[in-house]
Amino acid sequence: MTAGGHGFDGVERRGLMFVLSSPSGAGKTTLSRRLIEQTPGLKMSVSATTRPMRPGEVDGRDYHFIDKATFESMTERDELLEWATVFDNSYGTPRAPVDAALAAGQDVLFDIDWQGTQQLREKARDDVVSVFILPPSAAELEKRLHSRAQDSDEVIRGRMSRASHEMSHWAEYDYIVINHTIDDAFAEVQSILKAERLKRERRTGLTTFVRELQRQLET
Ligand code: 5GP
Repeated sequence: MTAGGHGFDGVERRGLMFVLSSPSGAGKTTLSRRLIEQTPGLKMSVSATTRPMRPGEVDGRDYHFIDKATFESMTERDELLEWATVFDNSYGTPRAPVDAALAAGQDVLFDIDWQGTQQLREKARDDVVSVFILPPSAAELEKRLHSRAQDSDEVIRGRMSRASHEMSHWAEYDYIVINHTIDDAFAEVQSILKAERLKRERRTGLTTFVRELQRQLET
């Protein structure tokens, strides 16, 4: 029995790859954390990165913090499902945990940028569901970046100018959520996942299930 089902009906489902992307500061990290906490059968993909750890981050939870040489050897050995360079640092998705989760019928949540989303879509188009989170305004995005107080003013300025570039990829995503309030945005993201889990094309065993229902109704 896979995640999201109810046991005895024999209806199962392929795991899906649920991608959240946004410019930094739009609320994606908070949304992903909540989603993981509140969604049975959903596992976070922990990326590897060469960027330095920020205060409050935990190695192995937020990222696997690795050096450039280790990152390069992972790309050479094809151990990354996708990878990209963002803000001069490399980020990539370790392949093995994703394969294991999907094989176990779990869904996997990715917090990756548009470059990684494109690569996942090329590899597994039918199993990828992508959501782009937009901030409600430029002023609000700047406020959120400052209130995180994790980055220097210079880094924040860099992130603001990157935000506009990242946003230009919004139309490549399946769903768009505007994060006016975190509670509303969370409810919307949750609804998307719930509906996608119920999609007919992802599910197996329905034909047998319905035939059996019909047999019972007709006898
Ligand atoms: P940050 O440094 O703020 O944690 O992340 C910067 C950007 O890198 C974010 O847009 C985030 O989604 C993206 N990112 C994080 N991990 C990965 C990854 O494994 N692959 C790709 N392509 N992007 C990632």
